[in-house]
Amino acid sequence: MSEPTPLARELRRILATEGPISVADYMALCLAHPVHGYYRTRDPLGAAGDFVTAPEVSQMFGELLGLWAAGVWQRMGAPHPVVLAELGPGRGTLMADALRAARIVPAFRAALAVHLVEISPALRRRQQETLAASGVAIAWHDDVATLPEGPLIVFANEFFDALPVHQAVKTADGWHERMVGLDESGRLVRALDPAPLPRFEALLPAHLRPAPVGAVFEWRSDAVVTELARRLVRFGGAALIVDYGHAPSAFGDTLQAVRGHAYADPLEAPGEADLTAHVDFAAIAAAAERAGAQALGPVTQGEFLRRLGIELRAARLKASATPAQREAIDAALLRLTGGGRENMGELFKVLVLGDPRLGLTDVIP
Ligand code: SAH
Repeated sequence: MSEPTPLARELRRILATEGPISVADYMALCLAHPVHGYYRTRDPLGAAGDFVTAPEVSQMFGELLGLWAAGVWQRMGAPHPVVLAELGPGRGTLMADALRAARIVPAFRAALAVHLVEISPALRRRQQETLAASGVAIAWHDDVATLPEGPLIVFANEFFDALPVHQAVKTADGWHERMVGLDESGRLVRALDPAPLPRFEALLPAHLRPAPVGAVFEWRSDAVVTELARRLVRFGGAALIVDYGHAPSAFGDTLQAVRGHAYADPLEAPGEADLTAHVDFAAIAAAAERAGAQALGPVTQGEFLRRLGIELRAARLKASATPAQREAIDAALLRLTGGGRENMGELFKVLVLGDPRLGLTDVIP
């Protein structure tokens, strides 16, 4: 067995004194522990990191999202100023590409106030470097709650999958929350909370009832979505959520750990592997609608990018490229829009939350 990570030692202390914690609390500690959390200590993105995201695949992704934002802004009545917020901006690549593309609508570019919601000090430094050349003032936040009040446009790419997820398991005597505890030898193990979750089954989406014994259901706090929706309804604007997950809610244990581009056991190297779980788009849409916002989609990332003109953009870039660059552009286009497990086009989905007064009928304004 490999050496325990520093966070594993810390978790043993916590679990030995406080008893088992929920999978959500475990995930939150692994990702965001102030000293040993995965996102606190490293830059996990790119070829040398643990995973590659759409904006790191190609500049076309951020550019097209920038044009989407300009379209939303026009539909909002061109407010000045407008907050352009990004949740979990990684290396700042998406925002840099979006701001460059936004130059073709100078009044939009001039109206923008950029606000980044990011918990990782390492990634905040990286974002600052990436965005230095863009010439816009940037403010950072730990949480959406401190964003300035006012009209806003929001990007969130691969943000919600990193938010802590709860798991419940159906047994013969009802639903129990899944916990992380210690076995006799002090190893981290999964366990069920002995107290059943009251009335859990009745709260499940109707198409999942009655649930079979053994079913696993995952859910997240609605806090971020509710706060975004409240702001969209009050001040105007729209949010673009891009992630992987299920469009109708579904059963399944989707918690996964990725370390150095390979899957690992989520309990194996706490703090040193990226932990994510599928996003439940139907749950996000329902929470947004409860707060008065409109939800559109989800559509696949491939469809969304094609409708925003990614093929034309790729052709333009290729026109002034070397043969090797042309090949790279084609490969990126396939990766972003193609089907199958090795591409993002069908795996990733796009959900838009909007102020109902915008009267959006589609994910593209
Ligand atoms: N959007 C980027 C990065 C995705 S990785 C891209 O597509 O490349 C997830 C991002 O969310 C990282 O920047 C991470 O530090 C940030 N993050 C994770 N949990 C967070 C939280 N609870 N609050 C704010 N940021 C968070």
